[in-house]
Amino acid sequence: MSDVCVIGAGLAGCEAAVRLAAKSLSVSLYEMKPVRFSRAHKNPGLAELVCSNSLKAANIENASGLLKEEMRMLGSVCVEAAYKSRVPAGQALAVDRDIFSKTVTEKVTSFGNIKIIREEVGSLSELPDCGAVIIATGPLTSEKLAEEIASLTGKEGLRFFDAAAPIVYAESVDAGKTFRAARYGKGTADYINCPMTRDEYYAFYEALVSAETADVEEFDSLHLYEGCMPVEEMAKRGRDTLKFGPLKPVGLTNPDGTRPYAVVQLRQDDAEGTLYNIVGFQTRLKFSEQRRVFGMIPGLENAEYARYGVMHRNTYIRSPGLLGADYRMKGTADPAVFFAGQITGVEGYMESASSGIVAGVNCGRYLKGEEPAVFPLSTVIGALANYVANYGGKDFQPMGANFGIVDSSAALGAGIRDKTARKRFAAENSLKVLGEFIKENNI
Ligand SMILES: Cc1cc2nc3c(=O)[nH]c(=O)nc-3n(C[C@H](O)[C@H](O)[C@H](O)COP(=O)(O)OP(=O)(O)OC[C@H]3O[C@@H](n4cnc5c(N)ncnc54)[C@H](O)[C@@H]3O)c2cc1C
Repeated sequence: MSDVCVIGAGLAGCEAAVRLAAKSLSVSLYEMKPVRFSRAHKNPGLAELVCSNSLKAANIENASGLLKEEMRMLGSVCVEAAYKSRVPAGQALAVDRDIFSKTVTEKVTSFGNIKIIREEVGSLSELPDCGAVIIATGPLTSEKLAEEIASLTGKEGLRFFDAAAPIVYAESVDAGKTFRAARYGKGTADYINCPMTRDEYYAFYEALVSAETADVEEFDSLHLYEGCMPVEEMAKRGRDTLKFGPLKPVGLTNPDGTRPYAVVQLRQDDAEGTLYNIVGFQTRLKFSEQRRVFGMIPGLENAEYARYGVMHRNTYIRSPGLLGADYRMKGTADPAVFFAGQITGVEGYMESASSGIVAGVNCGRYLKGEEPAVFPLSTVIGALANYVANYGGKDFQPMGANFGIVDSSAALGAGIRDKTARKRFAAENSLKVLGEFIKENNI
């Protein structure tokens, strides 16, 4: 019998297991490889990077870089392994994936109180008695366990694939070419509208239908419901399909009184209004193609993306309302059920690993009868946990590290106007706040 059963020895599961073991708790870490591999996993090692070998930016003026620095302060096993396996990649932190996985595997196995069990868990009832369970089985959670999770979270609680539209930073949208309005003037003028002339629309259409798409595992066999149809697939149905669909101009008038031929709308995506998603633009275009083709939309020529549109199989729970910011499923006890990693609705390697740290810290505290440690909102790691637990919109979609979700009021309060200087100030503040938080909470 162990104190905790962790299911899934990916990035999140390894972080959580190490965190618990370091606090002298015993862990049974279940991993189905090499008995069973998902379609993307190939290597029997732990913490496998299934696709790119880039862990994104390393500098703290970038939210991904800041997240890594926060994780380093917290003693992240993945960040430590990343620096040991680093390969040259300019400003980015890219790694040799085999050395990375080997380094994490060695670290995890060096703990005498972590027992690695190579078997697929099909149901929580198969697990031995333990005080808590952490489910960290990732976006490719095996089917049987996914069914079990669906019965835990409710039918509507589990999403099976990800069809997300890109999100851009509001300040990077050209206000001179766009206008704010609601269709037919109904309600408040919440949308940013990007009006197109006839020529602009057809040039955009031609570029869209001939743009390069990313390979999406199982895409052809996915049963896509209409609401998740990629914009480029919808466009292929006919030259005017988009004009009568997501780009319809009805009820919208240009500021000079003329009628636009088509309109792309941007919808606010966060409470602060720093992020906007492109309505109806779920896509599987390659990221470089998204920049090129969506850059043809008036106002988005220089748009900066907080998240690109993505479409791939992605099992994740509808976390808001189900999980707390400590990643524990509300109302569960004996065993308490925690979730960690991509399955919670964070997106990305390091984001997944970071949620493993928070879940591991809090699972340990739970078992020791301590109050949860809710990480500060001015840190990226805390902002991600808050997003997962408290996102207030209707359409919960996975989210990667970005400054739009971080509370950077300290930087704004300091009156810093320059964007880079503001990010640097916010990042330094975040690290200072995190340092104090770690000390105060004995993490
Ligand atoms: C195809 C694909 C490509 C991706 N590419 C990138 C990318 O390039 N960059 C990026 O930042 N993010 C990418 N992601 C998103 C995400 O960052 C990774 O999936 C990341 O590995 C998630 O970490 P995790 O710990 O949550 O899950 P994983 O790393 O997938 O770990 C989960 C582990 O659980 C095991 N497991 C599953 N079910 C069971 C079970 N029932 N019993 C026991 N073990 C089980 C799996 O074998 C696996 O080892 C990609 C996702 C997918 C699906």
